[in-house]
Amino acid sequence: MTDRVAVFDTTLRDGEQSPGCSMTPDEKVRFARQLERLGVDVIEAGFPVASKAELEAVRRVAAEVRSCSVAALARAKEEDIEPAARALEPAARPRLHVFLATSAIHLEHKLKIRPAQALRQAAEAVRYARSAVYDVEFSAEDASRTDYSFLREVAQAVQEAGASVFNVPDTVGYALPDELGAVFARLHQDVPGLTLSAHCHDDLGLGVANSLAAVRAGARQVEVTINGIGERAGNTSLEELVMALRVRQESLGLSTGVRPEELTRASRLLSSITGIWPQPNKAVVGRNAFAHEAGIHQHGMLANPLTYEIMTPASVGAGESLLVLGKHSGRHAVESRLLALGCRLGAQELDELTAEVKDLADRKKFVYDDDLLALAGRAPAGELRLVRYQAVTGNSVLPTATVEVERDGRAHAASAVGNGPLDAALKAADAALGLDLELLELHTRAVTAGKDALAEVSVRVRFDGREATGQAASTDSIEAALKAYLTAAGAARVGQEAA
Ligand SMILES: [Zn+2]
Repeated sequence: MTDRVAVFDTTLRDGEQSPGCSMTPDEKVRFARQLERLGVDVIEAGFPVASKAELEAVRRVAAEVRSCSVAALARAKEEDIEPAARALEPAARPRLHVFLATSAIHLEHKLKIRPAQALRQAAEAVRYARSAVYDVEFSAEDASRTDYSFLREVAQAVQEAGASVFNVPDTVGYALPDELGAVFARLHQDVPGLTLSAHCHDDLGLGVANSLAAVRAGARQVEVTINGIGERAGNTSLEELVMALRVRQESLGLSTGVRPEELTRASRLLSSITGIWPQPNKAVVGRNAFAHEAGIHQHGMLANPLTYEIMTPASVGAGESLLVLGKHSGRHAVESRLLALGCRLGAQELDELTAEVKDLADRKKFVYDDDLLALAGRAPAGELRLVRYQAVTGNSVLPTATVEVERDGRAHAASAVGNGPLDAALKAADAALGLDLELLELHTRAVTAGKDALAEVSVRVRFDGREATGQAASTDSIEAALKAYLTAAGAARVGQEAA
């Protein structure tokens, strides 16, 4: 018999707060569908008081997800709890997540309140949250640096006020596994009946180790993110923790409800939405996580995979990209494959995407899952659209590009020279747009293998003090870069008008 550990995914909240990972409401909904398919227990969808758009995003996730709980975060005050409860109204299983710092350093310097006040505020906030939502979780921010006896008092007070889950965050990523394990063991003994939760950060690379120490000492919920994204060095990585529990189940006696064969897909979907890919050697989901290079390893692997492999690529859904679509595939094939990948589109979007799939299949014969996700995942270009472009380059000519863009329904064209075709194309785009964008980052990645691969380009630009990102895919990397650039420019313009 194994004991079940609940998986609380905070990719859409703690993860989304990290630089370059912000998501639109549409992207949050799309990713939430994959989390549901993955089998997490709780999806933390956001922090509704932050903005109207955030509240709307949480509300849409709450309306979409049926089989797991949807959580919304709130500080321990009515003006936060009220919008969080409102955002959770459509949820099948709402959870309100209330937090307040408890460490001396946070109370004194950030909140400027005394411990007794914090204790009262925590209990009052939980009671207020309970009046709106049955399932309330309380987080003692900076718990790992909180004096134990005070932490225990807070846990008892919020339990009495109606919280069923008590989260112990290592907010600053400072704890060591044996220390954190000891805190959980004491709480487990001192405050029976409360589900304990671990929320660890990876500042010292100890997120997974600390979370494992917590569950071994009685925690029955872990707060994690896909690809380990999150503030600073990130959060505990869901895929690593889940696979550690699974591969070492005999030693640990613990299990989760996660379907590991969906892990790779979740990781890729997140990367294609944010444009940030995990390092190649990242455990479980990195490109090289199952690559055996050394000759002696390869020899052993051929004789018997168990010589060097503790889990198979197939067990986490990795392996060859599925060959899915060719130019004869219709709308229905595209739709069903997309649904299988966690992506539901409206009728018009689907028609457009089907046309793009055929176009791509014409150019490169086959369209793989990755290609499809890249095509479907591109952000709308706002009011800006690439009409056509032409670049002339070579080692004996001056690289020159002409770009025509549609801006607010009207075509604008411009030419420029640069120190390479990409530079020339982006300068021409700037001239055609009449905008002066600062290019902060540009990443190109081959989405699939082979010389005919689809290039996915992610760009980050700054315009008028605002940053925005864009992604696009094409077999032509300059075209992909231009489309990504226009997407980012469109987003930056929208941001400017909204501000
Ligand atoms: Zn955190």
